[in-house]
Amino acid sequence: MIDEAKLSAVLSEFARTLITDFPIQGIVDHLVERIVEVLPVTSAGVTLISEGSAPEYLAASSDAAFRYERLQSEIGEGPCLAAFESGEAVSIPDLRLDGQFPRFAAAAREAGLAAVFTFPLRHTHGRLGALDLYRDETGELDAQDLEAAQTLADVAAAYVLNARAREDALTASDQFHHHSLHDSLTGLPNRRLLQERIEHAARRSERSRADVALLFVDIDRFKSVNDTYGHHVGDQLLLAIADRFSHLIRSGDTLARLSGDEFVFLCEDLHNTADVEMLAQRIEGVFASPLALDDGLEIAVTASVGVAISGPGESVSTTLLVRADAAMYQVKRLGGGAHRVVGVNDPISDGSEAVFEHDLRRAVETESFEIHYQPIVRSADGRITGVEALLRWTHPERGLVPTPAVIAVAELTGMIDAIGAWVLERSCRDRARWLAAYPDHPLDLAVNVSPHQLAGSEFVATVAQVLDSTGMDPAALILEVTETIFIDESGRAMAALTEIARSGVRLALDDFGTGYSSLAYLRRMPIHIVKIDQAFIGDIDRLPSGSAIASAVTNLAHALGLSVVAEGVETQRQHDGVEAIGCDAAQGYLYARPMPADGIDALLGGLPH
Ligand code: C2E
Ligand code: MG
Ligand code: MG
Repeated sequence: MIDEAKLSAVLSEFARTLITDFPIQGIVDHLVERIVEVLPVTSAGVTLISEGSAPEYLAASSDAAFRYERLQSEIGEGPCLAAFESGEAVSIPDLRLDGQFPRFAAAAREAGLAAVFTFPLRHTHGRLGALDLYRDETGELDAQDLEAAQTLADVAAAYVLNARAREDALTASDQFHHHSLHDSLTGLPNRRLLQERIEHAARRSERSRADVALLFVDIDRFKSVNDTYGHHVGDQLLLAIADRFSHLIRSGDTLARLSGDEFVFLCEDLHNTADVEMLAQRIEGVFASPLALDDGLEIAVTASVGVAISGPGESVSTTLLVRADAAMYQVKRLGGGAHRVVGVNDPISDGSEAVFEHDLRRAVETESFEIHYQPIVRSADGRITGVEALLRWTHPERGLVPTPAVIAVAELTGMIDAIGAWVLERSCRDRARWLAAYPDHPLDLAVNVSPHQLAGSEFVATVAQVLDSTGMDPAALILEVTETIFIDESGRAMAALTEIARSGVRLALDDFGTGYSSLAYLRRMPIHIVKIDQAFIGDIDRLPSGSAIASAVTNLAHALGLSVVAEGVETQRQHDGVEAIGCDAAQGYLYARPMPADGIDALLGGLPH
């Protein structure tokens, strides 16, 4: 007879594993140990089996049980496999009388076994293996014992599944980490990893006082390759260039791809600056003859190379990148196909940075910005549920400036607070106008907030003031923040976010996957929405791992009660993937590009009431 009190104690012990980080092994070890105390059996074992691979022996309460488990896997026959295959418990109260598993019965009896009872580890979508109970005396288990054993097997199956999901999420988070440091096309380090390497180089050069050089390479007229031959050929060309470049680096150097057609060489521990000149010439040499691509195509391009060197004792920092970039631009303006070397502290002769900053400041004073809105749609039916406000600045001479460049300069110069407040206020007003005109279609409004704004002391007050003056419903406002807020050690950003969330405003974690990507952070933060970065959505229809990662993140986010938005959906196949994975909402060129406010009016006007 089963001891009910003991059984329920075992069950609650299991329940506790859910909230700890119990590994699978811990769960099954625990199961086999406790079950022999609860049920009238001599020993117990668990084998996990997955379709198409060899049974994986997992746990046994004694050496004898271990032998019986192994025996079944070795001879490929036995009650364990039968229970797994059929999904039904198998009872053999007397092995002498058994005709089902003659080879197993003979060998097991020789080893001292008299009776065996096996229970499938079941879950909703199938089975994970089986739990075997062994006795050294013959005899039946009563109905209650059988039921208790099956309950324990089911509970163990549920916990194993849970532990597997947790392990998958951790692996996904590692993959995220790799993805977040490498470019998905070429596999080279990306901007973030380069940044880390530059910081590392800075620390080393302080000690070694060796020179550090950074070479910024930009392919000339790369856009016309894409326009003429298509993106596929453009990608092939970048891969060919990455391959050639990778043969030029010495060990200890870093070759990174920043974006599009920009590559960077970081050379540490330089003892002779002539080596850098040589490297620059070799880079030019890569383009001396046309590059042969896989499909027989040959493409001739040139590159502009900007080189910045920091001499002994000069501090190394990301300034090196800025200087090399500026030097590269000067080459480009003179027609490209050459290189230019500058010292890290040399003034940049044309003053273009200062002019840019000055013009941006004027734009802030005169509020000469615009906002474009990109629809966010429900992935199930494509219905527009909200918009994201995206800043646009058209420079009087240069034309439209890429938004990330505007934001970067605004952050460096502190103008971001004023610009951010303007975007928030203007977009809340636009949203109020849409609501008045189309009350049947209230839209959520998502506004990007940079970490610099959150670190400022005014931000919480600014949000409250804008909500008040525009009559904005806090529940319809979503502030998008990035993972960089997690490393703000002052705790200021976190405090500001917590306070804002308390007012009913929702928070979205933008570009998930490009930063620290710690799934653990999600639990600690007042975050409501996770936006999976385009890099992963782009991989959904390219790499098997792309979809696995997006899917693991979506499941985890859902388990934490968060909703998930897929960013940058460009193709129908990506949409299908996003929908299959269960992302709640999506955003991307496939549905709509960012558009001026009146484009949203037109969209809403066309919807059925
Ligand atoms: P984000 O918040 O991740 O915004 C999405 C970006 O992806 C936008 O670029 C959008 O135009 C682009 N995008 C949307 N769908 C697709 C697609 O299907 N394919 C591709 N390739 N791109 C797509 P945008 O407007 O250039 O903005 C870039 C970033 O600048 C934003 O990234 C955001 O981090 C920042 N930003 C924009 N406006 C503001 C602002 O008002 N304040 C702050 N602090 N940052 C802003
Ligand atoms: Mg955003
Ligand atoms: Mg984003």
